[in-house]
Amino acid sequence: MEAIEERNQQLEIDDKKYIWHPFTQMQDYVKEESLIIESGDGCILTDIHGNEYIDGVSSLWTNVHGHRKKAIDSAIKKQLDKIAHSTLLGLSNVPAIRYAKKIVEITPKDLTRVFYSDSGSTAVEIALKIAFQYQQQAQDGNPEKKKFISLYNSYHGDTIGSVSVGGIDLFHSMYKHLLFESIKAESPYCYRCAFGKSYPGCKLECLSGLEEIMSTHANEVTAMVIEPLVQGASGMLLQPPGYLKKVRELCDKYNIFMIADEVAVGFGKTGKMFACEHEDVTPDIMALAKGISGGYLSLAATLATEKIYKGFLGKYEEFKTFFHGHTYTGNPLACAAAIANLEIFEEEKVLNKLQAKIEHFKQRLQSFTFLDNVGDVRQCGIMAGIEIVADKDTKEPFPPGKRIGQRVMKKARKRGLIIRPLGDVIVLMPPLSISIDEIDRLCDITYESIQSAKKQE
Ligand SMILES: *Cc1c(COP(=O)(O)O)cnc(C)c1O
Repeated sequence: MEAIEERNQQLEIDDKKYIWHPFTQMQDYVKEESLIIESGDGCILTDIHGNEYIDGVSSLWTNVHGHRKKAIDSAIKKQLDKIAHSTLLGLSNVPAIRYAKKIVEITPKDLTRVFYSDSGSTAVEIALKIAFQYQQQAQDGNPEKKKFISLYNSYHGDTIGSVSVGGIDLFHSMYKHLLFESIKAESPYCYRCAFGKSYPGCKLECLSGLEEIMSTHANEVTAMVIEPLVQGASGMLLQPPGYLKKVRELCDKYNIFMIADEVAVGFGKTGKMFACEHEDVTPDIMALAKGISGGYLSLAATLATEKIYKGFLGKYEEFKTFFHGHTYTGNPLACAAAIANLEIFEEEKVLNKLQAKIEHFKQRLQSFTFLDNVGDVRQCGIMAGIEIVADKDTKEPFPPGKRIGQRVMKKARKRGLIIRPLGDVIVLMPPLSISIDEIDRLCDITYESIQSAKKQE
């Protein structure tokens, strides 16, 4: 017992001494109690002291079927007995081939080619470079088309290219001198509509603005990047029905590629395998990561249409090659996990079973709208955002110094739930494998935590 206590204390000291945590103000972090995870099982995470928590944000939106899922564990172990890594640069490997075939079969129909990488950011970065290079060299390309359109409040990752198409000032404005220019359109943030309208009376005025931008810049724009259905990182902002389909139509009308960033919404989170399916949309390029390996290992894929792929073919000395490739691209262990992830979807009829959970989640979330400081509750599938405001009538937010989201998070931790808010938006996004009972606990704890965080005003 003594030894364990000692080990734990040392871990807490060393965590604060050696690790620079992502998206974290370290000056605060080192003063606060740390939470160090030791193990997980299903939707439950256990810390080094043996305390249990519901994994309320599926380990940052990655986990799909729960932790220590037998079929994924054994797929990785089985692959490990063959080989852990080999390269896709000039060679191939068995799981990478098998997965590419499987993912092409289930993604929207025109997507036929799979380019692997390791994270959501790289998947988007690759999408941007492909869309750019296509115009430079393809037979029907147009070298003048060099720019990108993206939405305010969008998040596409943290590398310089993906930040260039990002639209969250808090994360992105610091780097503005490093970025390439991209053209921003208003996002459909209905709770705080940029046009002061409300849906459906608005007739999707945000789309008129987008069309104006597209028609003005069609000659210089190669692609529009969009998170289909839900802008995740800016606080689970939902696009009204019909919005995505209309974006697809506008992209076609102005000869602009549509890049769907399904990094957050892919793999069942919205209730369908991919968010684009809700609106029957086929993008020209699709970025996948987060849930792709069931939340086990770093893996990402950028899918493209045959037309785009062909734009990169030619004699070597024409230099149409896509000169891009990360060292761990198509890692066999990660691909083995990704295959198992898809097999579980089929074998356990995960999406069928999910529908009742989504309905239950929806009912439970309704009660939150009656809380004094809840301005808006947004849900799509198993993803939800609860926007906390200081004043419900004026929608006035709390001053940033109040750190209201952080306070709710801390209250939830004490009650056995791990969440990570986005500013003042409380995000809930459990693994798809969550049970109805666990949804109840997740909602009960969140509800109490919002109430008690506010009492301290
Ligand atoms: C998380 C996220 C990314 C970035 O993925 P990383 O794996 O963190 O690089 C990109 N796009 C969207 C929509 C995301 O939610």
